[in-house]
Amino acid sequence: MKAAILTSPQPVRNQPLRIGEVATPEPRPGEVLLRVRACGVCRTDLHIVEGELPPLRRELIPGHQIVGEVVDENATRLPHGTRVGVSWIGGTEGSCRYCQLGLENLCDSPAFTGYSVNGGYAEYAAVRADFAFPLPDRLDDLRAAPLLCAGIIGFRSLRVAGVKPGDRVGLFGFGASAHLAIAVLRSWKCEVYVSTRGESHRKLAASLGAAWVGSETEKPPVELDCAVTFAPSGDVVVAALASLRKGGVVAINAIHLDRIPQFDYDRLMWGERQLRSVANMTRADARDFLRIASEIDLRPKVTAFPLDQANDALIALKEDSIDGAAVITI
Ligand SMILES: [Zn+2]
Ligand SMILES: [Zn+2]
Repeated sequence: MKAAILTSPQPVRNQPLRIGEVATPEPRPGEVLLRVRACGVCRTDLHIVEGELPPLRRELIPGHQIVGEVVDENATRLPHGTRVGVSWIGGTEGSCRYCQLGLENLCDSPAFTGYSVNGGYAEYAAVRADFAFPLPDRLDDLRAAPLLCAGIIGFRSLRVAGVKPGDRVGLFGFGASAHLAIAVLRSWKCEVYVSTRGESHRKLAASLGAAWVGSETEKPPVELDCAVTFAPSGDVVVAALASLRKGGVVAINAIHLDRIPQFDYDRLMWGERQLRSVANMTRADARDFLRIASEIDLRPKVTAFPLDQANDALIALKEDSIDGAAVITI
């Protein structure tokens, strides 16, 4: 099969992904073989390809927002032809204390799709059937792909931030994840305040119903009940903290931050303000979010790239040169 293969992480401008032929995977017990139809491109892919996340395999096929069709299975109950989505958590062992507590997103030994196991920048992928989510018909391939990580983890971020209907919510950064989260927030009648770099991101935020839009570290004109930061920048985290009311929460939706600068505790955290990270996702997050996405007819803005141009898709993401999400079509 054709795949995009990473052997040596380096800056994306060096085209680290080689497009070539590899053996089609065989599904192991409990797995299904998917014919991949589309695979979303996530910022985490960029961190993997550039080596900010340490390599776990000598050869890796990245990609963890897979939309595929079951074409073979090994002792699973997912029928052939089922269209499913696969996300970043590709499996958990189910017995560690986090799994036992229902916190499978924190599992001690999870499989990460497109990182510890091969992902979806390929014609086929073998995935665990119990971590593949049947997709509602209403969500087409191209538009379902970015929902599978950007969407689900953005949705989890809203949960971690403790968003309640009608809240004043800040979104700091406005890429793939935020432009999906705003649709959910609007359906909950929240007032959304967006601080982001890039004129086109600001325009997109305004067109999607933001109550206010400013530049990346600009402070919204009201105190926020909660905020989510999407940029991999500690300065943005501090800007979000500075915008909170007492008792408010900032959820950091970033697997990697450059650093967190020193900040004034008395002014920014005192008053029971909270700073939380958002790690991974649970299957319940995925199911709940996909249901809501179908109900509100969520239509992400996507730019499609053929598999041959996987490196270009990552460059576009890094340079912030597209609005919404990049999706590789296969
Ligand atoms: Zn576990
Ligand atoms: Zn992701």
